[in-house]
Amino acid sequence: TAPQTGLIGLGTMGAALALNIAEKGFPIAVWNRTGSVTQAFHANAGDLAPRITPTATLAELVQAITPPRAIILMVPAGQAVDDQLAALAPLLGPEDLVIDAGNANFRDTNRRDAAGLPFHFMGIGVSGGEEGARHGPSIMAGGPPAAWARMQPLLQAIAARAEDGTPCADHMGPSGAGHFVKAVHNGIEYADMQMIAETYGVMRDGLGMAAPAIAPVFDAWNKGILQSYLIEISGQVAATADPVTGAPLLDMIVDSAGQKGTGRWTAVEAQHLAAPVPVIEAAVMARNVSARRAERAAGEARFGRATPDLNLSVDDLEQALIAGKILCYAQGFAMMTAAAAEFGWALDMPAIARVWRAGCIIRSAMLNDMAAALAEDPARNLILAPFFAAQLDHSLPALRRVVAAGALQGMGLPALSAGLAWFDLMRQARGTANMIQGQRDFFGLHGFTRLDGLDHPHGPWAQA
Ligand code: NDP
Repeated sequence: TAPQTGLIGLGTMGAALALNIAEKGFPIAVWNRTGSVTQAFHANAGDLAPRITPTATLAELVQAITPPRAIILMVPAGQAVDDQLAALAPLLGPEDLVIDAGNANFRDTNRRDAAGLPFHFMGIGVSGGEEGARHGPSIMAGGPPAAWARMQPLLQAIAARAEDGTPCADHMGPSGAGHFVKAVHNGIEYADMQMIAETYGVMRDGLGMAAPAIAPVFDAWNKGILQSYLIEISGQVAATADPVTGAPLLDMIVDSAGQKGTGRWTAVEAQHLAAPVPVIEAAVMARNVSARRAERAAGEARFGRATPDLNLSVDDLEQALIAGKILCYAQGFAMMTAAAAEFGWALDMPAIARVWRAGCIIRSAMLNDMAAALAEDPARNLILAPFFAAQLDHSLPALRRVVAAGALQGMGLPALSAGLAWFDLMRQARGTANMIQGQRDFFGLHGFTRLDGLDHPHGPWAQA
């Protein structure tokens, strides 16, 4: 049968996705800007080659697909997507559908959607890296419900499956909603990675543990509440020896983290939404600081290193990480609640937690419990869900010990500290912003509201 689906961009993600689609029984036509890549891809497709139609031009790609067509774009986010949409415009009909599956900024997806493209348009977030794309990613779809209904069988067939068999692909909402949820996913990914790196740092610099001794700690955590892909690979990273020197590979890797910017988008959007996501912000900050190696070296030369010998156990670190993770996700879900209100989206919080349970980088056992807690009351902050409140009661003392020890010994733990500071504000019925309001009224006559409800908009500051 002739394909109804096409794919543009046979790079890392596109090639893996095309093979996944073909494997699930959907014939697919493919095109890549560099033609030799298309040929090589088809030649190496093995048993799947008969289901794949390689094409040499964009026009040939469109010709090879039976209308109404669905064409998946897997090219770098930004100008390349705009260029492809423009190139497709004269070739496609109004019933055809183009799906941007790259890491677009959701504002670009909104803009493209609003621009009135001469075909249907969706933006989907795909997580899980190459392995996920090949064997089952997590898919966060945005676009018109009719377009989702059309793509649902294919997207759910290629998606990862949670333990209960549910496919990890769902419709998040209209236009940029899918790419927005993907950005929050990536922000949380930054935060999860940073908090794990912070516990690694305490083990290395505080407890004096070498990488081979740290690996089994992560392996043990991966059997408990923290069970997750990122903890699992952290154990493997710590366990791996350098093929060149035989020393732990981790000790050979430069301590400067790269980023493609999706975590930063989340932090920026959170600021626009006035939604506090301090753990994610701290993680973005820490990546930026990591890049400043020379300045950090000068800082250490002037102020000295952190001092080891902490009275902490690895069990404290596990509990601190559990608490930090709950606080981080509570912030992320609250940010999406704010976004739903701001953008008029009906984001389904339990569905988002379910879509993240498998396939994506932040997949973890805890997301099952989060989905259940959000299903009880999607608008309630996750820290107030009885299950997580009880877990926090149990884990917070360790988070306090870890953050306090980090501060006393001079070890920066920005994400764990930021989570704790937010938590302590969130459980303080009488905060300190009365002082801010007093200051604002003093210098700017901004006024304030009185606790007793009396109408007295300004203080008598001028007479003071
Ligand atoms: P690659 O660099 O591996 O591949 C990019 C592909 O896009 C190539 O096929 C390239 O073709 C094509 N391309 C580049 N520029 C243009 C252009 N101007 N017009 C047409 N085609 C173009 O990228 P990835 O597969 O890693 O990433 C693709 C998208 O997926 C990105 O948005 C990325 O952020 C996202 N993503 C990536 C993940 C990952 O783990 N790598 C995970 C999740 C999302 P050519 O061969 O001619 O250069």
